[in-house]
Amino acid sequence: MTLIVQKYGGTSVANIERINAVADRVSRMRSAGNDMVVVVSAMSGETDRLLRLATEVHPNPPPRELDVLIATGEQETAALLSMALQQRGHDARSYMGHQVHILTDNVHGKARIRMIDDARVRKDLGRGRVVVVAGFQGVDEEGNITTLGRGGSDTTAVAMAAALKADECQIYTDVDGVYTADPRIVPDARRLDRITVEEMLELASLGAKVLQTRSVQFAGRYKVPLRVLSSFDEGPGTLITFEEHAMEDILISGIAYARDEAKLTVTDVPDRPGVAWTLFAEIGAANIDVDMIVQNVGADGLTDMTFTVHRADYDKALKILKKVAQALSAGDVIGDDKIVKISVVGVGMRSHAGIAATAFRALSDEGINIQMISTSEIKISVVVEEKYLELGVRALHSAFGLAGPPAAG
Ligand code: ADP
Ligand code: ASP
Ligand code: MG
Repeated sequence: MTLIVQKYGGTSVANIERINAVADRVSRMRSAGNDMVVVVSAMSGETDRLLRLATEVHPNPPPRELDVLIATGEQETAALLSMALQQRGHDARSYMGHQVHILTDNVHGKARIRMIDDARVRKDLGRGRVVVVAGFQGVDEEGNITTLGRGGSDTTAVAMAAALKADECQIYTDVDGVYTADPRIVPDARRLDRITVEEMLELASLGAKVLQTRSVQFAGRYKVPLRVLSSFDEGPGTLITFEEHAMEDILISGIAYARDEAKLTVTDVPDRPGVAWTLFAEIGAANIDVDMIVQNVGADGLTDMTFTVHRADYDKALKILKKVAQALSAGDVIGDDKIVKISVVGVGMRSHAGIAATAFRALSDEGINIQMISTSEIKISVVVEEKYLELGVRALHSAFGLAGPPAAG
């Protein structure tokens, strides 16, 4: 028996027609003799709608209650899909995260999966049942409902596949695979037949939302065979591979972007041991993740410290920074939440010089000013003004020759 875990994202279950189409596909695969576990997202727009409702009753919704609320979107689609499968003659069961026992930590809104008790699912599969699981949610040790962060149903699916040692985990979405850049922004982006887990992890964590970062981490850690496919069209999709050098001949695999960034600068910080620590300790204590950091040391013993945070944390970070700047007798605090981060990703960077120069030239040719730069072995990220997002992504995409006809299946 082949065990397949499939995940259907928001647009793939957006209405009854789409849910019926999903049920048809699952039904076909079940009838062909596969064991099927199906993870579903909420209907597209539903999680946003629930989040808006919450802010209408509370400007800063309590995280525990917010999770109880936003977990309902997935409950709805799980039940509907299970009914649609029963209507097609299958024995189907829908489960919430706590019923399957997806145990997480207690960090509401971005909980991490600790363990999955697969006994119940296995028992159902043994009885020939199709198991439908509500994505995005889990339960903490005290029985509180938790959610896994936006896009978290991907992680539910990959974690289920890991726990069940599934033969394949298939992520069905509204694009037919992983592309060299977001096809919504770059019309001539190309679908990749395969991508290494390492590159996929970079693309995801740098903003390509086709897979949630944590799901790729799970796939890497447990070697889950993972494929991204379209729920609208048939096709081979993109396979995430584990070979270290599978793409050696390919220099750059893709361009990613993150819109939701903001930049903060403290000027004239005294250049002495401990200042960075003082600054970032306060930011860290407020649970704010810091991304890029740049420090420019001036000749006068004063330095400018610039760093980026998630845009949602911008106001909070600004407030903290003003306080810390004063305590350090630093100069001004300057903030800018109209910036974006664009990144070039590829394992080929390890063995090739000149990638950064090509990237910077492409941006310069378009008159785009680079505000910050950060690099790692397989990526180069730049911060630019928000208005240059599309132009910058397209310029980099074409500078590395990524456009082209669709990859052969
Ligand atoms: P779902 O609701 O199915 O989980 P998401 O909206 O989370 O779907 O992710 C799919 C979207 O990811 C696509 O519609 C596309 O706009 C975006 N995306 C960003 N970067 C990429 C990329 N490199 N390849 C494919 N899709 C991408
Ligand atoms: N419904 C959740 C979200 O919109 C989880 C998911 O779709 O993966 O983020
Ligand atoms: Mg998603």
